[in-house]
Amino acid sequence: MRHFPIFLDLAGRTALVVGSGEVAARKAAALIEAGAVVRERPGFAEADLDGAAIAIGAEAPEADLRALVAAARRRGVPVNVVDRPELCTFITPSVIDRDPVTIAVASAGTAPVLARLLRARIEAAVPPRFGALAGFAARIRDRVRAALPNPAARRRFLERTLTGPAADLVFAGDEAAAVATVEAGLADCVRAPEGIVFLVGAGPGAADLLTLRAQRLLGEADVIVHDRLVSEDVLAMARRDAERIYVGKARANHCLSQEAINALLVRLAREGRRVVRLKGGDPLVFGRGGEEAEALAAAGICFEIVPGVTAALAAGAQRAIPLTHRGVARTVTFATGHSREGTLDLDCAALARLGGTLAIYMGVATLPLLAEGLIAAGLDPATPAALVESAGTPACRELAGTLDGLVRDGPAWSRGGPTLVLIGAVVGRGGLGRSAAAEIEVAAAIGLQHVAVE
Ligand code: SAH
Repeated sequence: MRHFPIFLDLAGRTALVVGSGEVAARKAAALIEAGAVVRERPGFAEADLDGAAIAIGAEAPEADLRALVAAARRRGVPVNVVDRPELCTFITPSVIDRDPVTIAVASAGTAPVLARLLRARIEAAVPPRFGALAGFAARIRDRVRAALPNPAARRRFLERTLTGPAADLVFAGDEAAAVATVEAGLADCVRAPEGIVFLVGAGPGAADLLTLRAQRLLGEADVIVHDRLVSEDVLAMARRDAERIYVGKARANHCLSQEAINALLVRLAREGRRVVRLKGGDPLVFGRGGEEAEALAAAGICFEIVPGVTAALAAGAQRAIPLTHRGVARTVTFATGHSREGTLDLDCAALARLGGTLAIYMGVATLPLLAEGLIAAGLDPATPAALVESAGTPACRELAGTLDGLVRDGPAWSRGGPTLVLIGAVVGRGGLGRSAAAEIEVAAAIGLQHVAVE
């Protein structure tokens, strides 16, 4: 470690800023925010250092900067010259401000860009209201100490509380509910330790389509219960030492029955563990998350649901197909093509009458049945339609055409990845290809990256 990190208390102390320019002004503003009395000078005169606790130089004539550094060193006043590490006796880090929590990142002056990139990552990982959590922790400290005299039990409780639902409530700004959660938790703790289950949407596959909340919970989980649609990229976000339990499900090839999965979640929570139940897409869209939530509620287990990007949204975004479009589609229907004993349990007449966009999950195998039903109910066989496979992943493929065309060409095209069927006028919008392309150009022009697939 090249530098010794400290946080300096400058409240009411004099800070000298030598230089005139934007950088000098920014440094002065930061010092004022920390409570310092700032003495700003365009150039350097020895007397400016009288009583100064710290000195910063920026954008001043070279002779002034060198005089400043020499005088400060002589007087033992810490001095920093912006972007001149060889002149500094201290460096200023990149700061993530979650007052009263302050996170500082520095690279010993060798790679400030890298330090800033790292700061951006930390910014994303630490919720903006994290500071509120520190205040909350201070306010409940005495109460927790009184209820849990054993230090180890108290530490476990606080760790759980500050990463659990109470913390989420603090982040959401509902401190009263957070306090109630702490009280309930303390009461439970005194009786018996209890875990918690998070039913988390893993999104369509790409790790950066996870919500920040899902990412945080993955980093805190004791055990991850996941199924087939959850990608390795997403699983890689989990805490290294978290146990992983695969309860995969492929059509007609269930690894564990739903009842067994429910029972497993209840058992893990009763062991006092922090369980993340990860599901592809959104847990409440054809994910049986509702059944698991019911089972947990019935067993009296604490649970929370975290939404994810469902396949229909990922498919629409990836292929630039708007699910609703002014003047074209006023409704979008999520339906399942899953069949029971060879018949589709869908009201095709109602779907055809709606005239909006249809997003059919688990619908490839039964597409002929669905198409037959929709066409019999009056839908044009030439209605635009598309199969979108592995949306939201680099392996995404699309077969676009008409409803009857997909029935004919779909089976040969399919490679067996999860596939969504989209039906409706929005799929075939000719102008859309161009406007999407135009948007991509704009994105490129402003430096955003657009990943084109196939
Ligand atoms: N809860 C999930 C859906 C689970 S049902 C969600 O919200 O997305 C499984 C069906 O979802 C698959 O048969 C397929 O139709 C669809 N699906 C899931 N992931 C997909 C993906 N990445 N691309 C296309 N379709 C997908």
